[in-house]
Amino acid sequence: VTDLSALGEFGLIERFTRLLSAHPDVVVGVGDDCAVLRCGGSHWLVSCDASLEGVHFRRESAAPEAIGWKAMASALSDIAAMGGKARFALVTLACPPDTDVAWLDALFQGLSAAAASCGAVIVGGDTTRSASGVVLDVTVIGEPLGGRWLTRAGARAGDAVAVTGYPGRSAAGLLALEYSHDAPVLIEAHLHPVPRFAEGQWLAEQTGAHALIDMSDGLLQDAGHVAEAAGLGLDIDPGRLPMARELEKARAWLPGDPAALILGGGEDYELIVALERDAAPALCAEFERRFGLPLTIVGTFEEAGGVRVGGRGYDAAGFDHFKG
Ligand SMILES: [Mg+2]
Repeated sequence: VTDLSALGEFGLIERFTRLLSAHPDVVVGVGDDCAVLRCGGSHWLVSCDASLEGVHFRRESAAPEAIGWKAMASALSDIAAMGGKARFALVTLACPPDTDVAWLDALFQGLSAAAASCGAVIVGGDTTRSASGVVLDVTVIGEPLGGRWLTRAGARAGDAVAVTGYPGRSAAGLLALEYSHDAPVLIEAHLHPVPRFAEGQWLAEQTGAHALIDMSDGLLQDAGHVAEAAGLGLDIDPGRLPMARELEKARAWLPGDPAALILGGGEDYELIVALERDAAPALCAEFERRFGLPLTIVGTFEEAGGVRVGGRGYDAAGFDHFKG
């Protein structure tokens, strides 16, 4: 393999990871939503996330405030995905010298509004010139509550696959923007995702919750990461997918089946959790009572590797930055 598009995003990460050495204070290293680092007597959750013009956003279709919001929210979501509390953020911004200052002011407003909404403060960063397009990179630092966190890696065979809220809305919102459809709830889900902090923190306290991840790349791909981290596979029951009312209504104009957006659409930043089978129904009921949001059992982690939908292999696994 000589070309990155053949190696793929996950092949590249694996190749780099082989070069890293272990360190006693790295409690969780590469391969989870955050690194968990031992610092003095406590632990820190650390992650970063890049947003590039032309790859993650287009200036023509998104307001600068929304671009900033999403860059910050998607980075902070990785702390929610460990069940942690957001604390600090650093922002690196690269842009061409002719970038409009009012546009940048609005971008920064979005970044800081999203940070504030999650309880984080921006404490620094870097600014530099870019040869083409705007590049944002957000580093986030969080704190595990009560010294507890949930990694991707604890799922057991027989555990339920459960998902918060209504995934698929963000992908549908992007299509609504592209096709100029009036679907404000879906568009809002795409432009202003809200990380599930309170929900993640509560899940991390439950002994019946074994593994946690946030949905950045789609239900199948992200649930697949949880399965893979535990050496398992999974089967999703297509009859149990939580369908948002707005997504059901969008059937009228969507080019395909909305279920495909739930399975393969990214950027919802909902959480996927592996739940002990016997405890799952009560945990879902308590979750819904507490947060006014569904936690839906959509499938099962299984001994047999691979990702299945209704018992059959499914070939639309999320997003790889370098493939196709
Ligand atoms: Mg993540």
